[in-house]
Amino acid sequence: MLSTMQDVPLTVTRILRHGSTVHGTSQVVTWTGEGAPQRRSFREIGERAAQLAHALREDLGVSDDDRIATFMWNNSEHVEAYYAVPCMGAILHTLNLRLPADQLTWIVNHAADRVIIVNGSLLGLLAPLLPHMATVEHIVVSGPGDRSLLADARARVHEYEELLTGKPTSYDWPELDERAAAAMCYTSGTTGDPKGVTYSHRSIYLHSMQVNMAQSMGLSDADTSLVVVPQFHVNAWGLPHAALMTGVNMLMPDRFLQPGPLAEMIEAERPTHAAAVPTIWQGLLAELSARPRDVSSLGQVTIGGSACPPSLMEAFDRLGMRVCHAWGMTETSPLGTVARPPAHAIGTDEEFGYRLTQGRFPAAVEARLIGPGGEHLPWDGESAGELEVRGPWIAGAYYGGAGGETLRPEDKFSEDGWLKTGDVGVISPDGFLTLTDRAKDVIKSGGEWISSVELENALMAHPDVAEAAVVAVPDEKWGERPLATVVLKENATADYATLRDFLADSIAKWQLPERWAIIPAVPKTSVGKFDKKVLRRQYADGELT
Ligand code: ADP
Repeated sequence: MLSTMQDVPLTVTRILRHGSTVHGTSQVVTWTGEGAPQRRSFREIGERAAQLAHALREDLGVSDDDRIATFMWNNSEHVEAYYAVPCMGAILHTLNLRLPADQLTWIVNHAADRVIIVNGSLLGLLAPLLPHMATVEHIVVSGPGDRSLLADARARVHEYEELLTGKPTSYDWPELDERAAAAMCYTSGTTGDPKGVTYSHRSIYLHSMQVNMAQSMGLSDADTSLVVVPQFHVNAWGLPHAALMTGVNMLMPDRFLQPGPLAEMIEAERPTHAAAVPTIWQGLLAELSARPRDVSSLGQVTIGGSACPPSLMEAFDRLGMRVCHAWGMTETSPLGTVARPPAHAIGTDEEFGYRLTQGRFPAAVEARLIGPGGEHLPWDGESAGELEVRGPWIAGAYYGGAGGETLRPEDKFSEDGWLKTGDVGVISPDGFLTLTDRAKDVIKSGGEWISSVELENALMAHPDVAEAAVVAVPDEKWGERPLATVVLKENATADYATLRDFLADSIAKWQLPERWAIIPAVPKTSVGKFDKKVLRRQYADGELT
């Protein structure tokens, strides 16, 4: 027997209607570098999204299912595109502007994007790639930048603001199937070609509700969130959607992502929440110790994307900014787990330990651990295996083409449809996940596993160490051994022997690295994570001895 309840499609359009009316006075504030920031209310965002949808439909001839790419910083125009494109029935494709040129062109061609909306300040990056992007018919340019870079473009060039001028500020949004694709994002292709994930209206809606739950980010219209995590990095972790549900004000850094301007905007705009990967926060910490600022408004900082070093969490705690650790991936929309300690641990010695885990699974995300022989492992906090997940905002396949074809590689999906995350860890009986490593980063030494993350965290707790990345390198006797690469703080003097002795306090002797390199900076991926592939290559090329 079916229920007697209404069957209302869960769409991004519902989020837009709600946000632009009920929370119409909440704001998107975009940092401009000099002078006053740009302020736009959610009502204006809704009106301008309607104007953009009219322009895309009427002037550019965009039709349903067309892929509309963005090549943009975090700013209010990008939020407008976040709503205009999916709500009119097309698909928003956020391009990672830090990817190498060959990957970017590959991705645009694979998605067959028809339009690219680009910030003027990024034209220098995009223009040289356009001759290789055969499907792109229109370029829409927003904000300051040198338009002459597009002089030879085959695609038609439009001005964002001119397109919007005179267009109606409301749009007769179509009633969409909640299962239809709303947005797409490609993984950064650390192994093989990048893989496209298409999020549905329904998955975005449900994920946004999760972001807003008290045991997740728990934000409301009393909050302002500094959204440092790029809008091209898994939908800025769902914040631009979640914000319109509950009226959270958004502070957008645009292209001003360096520690100095970030500290300045925190002091000036007093956000209560911020979200970014650990490397951003390491940079901010160094900035704050060199030039102290008032960052006391920041009560909550969501850190994810890679493991949060305990030393970083402690340093933030001392500044009154409470870190909340979270885990996720492109394929999980991204919110998988959030580390809010259970009530019984709050105020006890156990609390910090809970906060350091990757977090607890929400009701909608089912998890299991699979051992090396394919066996299901218990949630006992000890048995380590590969994490597999399923749920309404977890990918069940990758995008295989405009006709709805999908790709289900065996190494990414189990036979019964669960996502294989490639992350190795343990789960406690009360559902907290602790990752020990990525399957491909684990150091396999003489039949035992050494966690690169554990070594990195221990090293970064040394007062002389700014950053540390540990990678597996080939070893004749043991198969693989750890190589510790370390970035020292300014004027620091620690040598390898000192660091090794320091590690010996918390790390088993057989896991201590014999190979060390002091480096000026850890190479980073396009989303700011340690790029271990580059370190492994540098070692192989003899650059890190
Ligand atoms: P990429 O593969 O480009 O890094 P994602 O941003 O989707 O793309 O990365 C997801 C991966 O990042 C996860 O599978 C996991 O390995 C890592 N990750 C994310 N959050 C955390 C975290 N809190 N702790 C440890 N690793 C994390």
